[in-house]
Amino acid sequence: ENGKGRSEQATVCCYCGTGCGVLASAEGGRITAVRGDPAHPANFGRLCTKGSTLHLAAAPGGRALYPKLRDARAIVGITAATTPRRRVGWDAALDTAAERFADIIRRHGPDAVAFYISGQLLTEDYYVFNKLARALVGTNNIDSNSRLCMSSAVSGYKATLGADSVPTCYEDIALADHLLIAGANPAWAHPIVFRRIEDARRANPDVSLTVVDPRRTETAELADLHLQIAPGSDVLLYNAMLHVLLAEGLVDQDFIRDHTSGFEALQAQLGSCTPGEVAAACGLPAAQIVEAARRFGRARAALSLWCQGLNQSHHGTANNAALIHLHLASGHIARPGAGPFSLTGQPNAMGGREVGALATLLPGHRNVDDAADRAELARLWNIPALPAAPGLAAVQLFEALAAGRVKAVWIACTNPAQSLPDQARVRAALAQAEFVVLQEAFADTETAAYADLLLPAASWGEKSGTVTNSERRVSRVRALVPPPGEARPDWVIVADFARRLATRLGRDAAAFDWRDEAAVFAEHASLTAGRDCDMSGLSHAVLERDGPQQWPFPAGAQRGTARLFQDKRFATADGRARFAPIGFPVAHALLPEPVDARHPFVLTTGRLRDHWHGMSRTGKVAALWGHTPRAEVVLNPANIAAHGLEVGELVRIANPRGELVLPLAADTGIAAGQAWIPMHWGSASLAQPGANALTSPAVDPASRQPALKQAAVAIKPA
Ligand code: SF4
Repeated sequence: ENGKGRSEQATVCCYCGTGCGVLASAEGGRITAVRGDPAHPANFGRLCTKGSTLHLAAAPGGRALYPKLRDARAIVGITAATTPRRRVGWDAALDTAAERFADIIRRHGPDAVAFYISGQLLTEDYYVFNKLARALVGTNNIDSNSRLCMSSAVSGYKATLGADSVPTCYEDIALADHLLIAGANPAWAHPIVFRRIEDARRANPDVSLTVVDPRRTETAELADLHLQIAPGSDVLLYNAMLHVLLAEGLVDQDFIRDHTSGFEALQAQLGSCTPGEVAAACGLPAAQIVEAARRFGRARAALSLWCQGLNQSHHGTANNAALIHLHLASGHIARPGAGPFSLTGQPNAMGGREVGALATLLPGHRNVDDAADRAELARLWNIPALPAAPGLAAVQLFEALAAGRVKAVWIACTNPAQSLPDQARVRAALAQAEFVVLQEAFADTETAAYADLLLPAASWGEKSGTVTNSERRVSRVRALVPPPGEARPDWVIVADFARRLATRLGRDAAAFDWRDEAAVFAEHASLTAGRDCDMSGLSHAVLERDGPQQWPFPAGAQRGTARLFQDKRFATADGRARFAPIGFPVAHALLPEPVDARHPFVLTTGRLRDHWHGMSRTGKVAALWGHTPRAEVVLNPANIAAHGLEVGELVRIANPRGELVLPLAADTGIAAGQAWIPMHWGSASLAQPGANALTSPAVDPASRQPALKQAAVAIKPA
């Protein structure tokens, strides 16, 4: 009881990857109050502005309530459809979907359909989608919006540590004596993680903080050293820091000799990467680079934390690997307080990686391109074989849709018409697809305009399952109220569709029969046995009894695992961490598209403190509009004067991909030559596109994560 006569249930905030525990109350079918869960190890009772208003964001309004089907497409160009959808029952909706998908699969093969899902889904939802795509349809065309946020961290970890395994935990923040935050603004994007950083520095004033960020953010304001790096020059910076570590004897030769491979090859590539050589490209004084390296190298325990600034780049994998190299060279890894800690953006990006819901992955951190992994999973799923053809990652998936190679797409819990780069191209792809299914809690997203079939999904507080946060901690998410209208939990919708599709394809529908979400989790957990993410000892019952747990949690374990690689054996074949052979030559293009006289500004994008993604939830909460009431483009005051612009006037931000009109704001925290726009806007009316009208679809070749942080733009009076 919460003291007011209402019962509380423990669940998890549905916004960022911090994964804060929430105690939520409901009354009369409505969620009426939330407070931080004092017992949850991610937050110990704290919530940020977004988390503490979850009950207000859960208010009715704007929800998709009933399945709705469009009988004929009437979409012109990239504008909204004109033929209204009509309400249908679930049977008609899912039979139609199964018929259309079966027909396309028969005529064009399994790779003519695709699934584009979300880091907002629960692990159970993710798992059922993944089994549907790989085991029933027979395609690897299943990708997630986690591709936009985490895939460079995945490939960076795999390239260096041998597995997609975050080795650290939140406790390490209090145990480190040096923190390096790179390409992240946790003060706004992961506020409860940031509270830990503030606590650590209050408890020990000797804890030093270096922040690497092109903007002077609130996080950077707290730093002892802020490296206001030029966008795209991350690898040069970290290689130059490694050069300093070597030159000043700050490397751990014993660790390198005993626990790593590839150091000599990387060392050979570092020759010209001195602080003096890279200073101009990085936009930094050489002395700052030296200082940053010394702080890192001389620390007793150095912890790095990073997010989209490193990941959303056309060389995001190299960015990640170059930062992890600093840990491997100095031995700041595999011990308390030390290690590389990527922060996940979305609440369950980590759970999606566990079930393999990225085009390149399979359940249990297996890989599509590994024949033994495919054979093992086929045996576990009791099917003859899994598809070997590589799947389409997010940007490619919509390119294939535009080209007609993919005919039908099933989108769940995400809004690609707003959130993918090069928005006009994505909208054009959706407009000319043969069949678009959208499984969504909200009725009026930008993507909904293109849906032939809209399936109403349950939202936060209405469905039950699990999520995994940034520190590998699996928590129970609980339903407090029934979904509105005829909305259903996501996994229930997908399993129902899969059974209908299986029948039409002459396959085993029973493979998609689960009693409840606990049974789905049990099947998922069983597939992880013996893998680095082994959670075969976890179940909904264990989580109910013992609370949130970190994997690995193998069968028979009594508790989860806070830190990985404590025995200094890494997840590679020889047990050695790797200095990845992806040194980054100085001549490499730093940006996906260079600025020129016509497009002289480097556009970067990012989060506001009080909003989340496309604002389907946070946009409903009046209190969350007080901090930043409108979208603006932000420039350095020197640029405003030099370009004859005025603060507050409407300006047109444009490049060949698109344009948008926004009021102009000034901030000395933005370096000259750069522009910054929040990522949250993108009107459902399609009249005013969002930041992604301008962003670049260039992707990292290894992770296939798009370079959402860097685009060349012109800015002129509107
Ligand atoms: Fe929710 Fe993230 Fe805020 Fe925690 S820090 S309350 S998970 S938005």
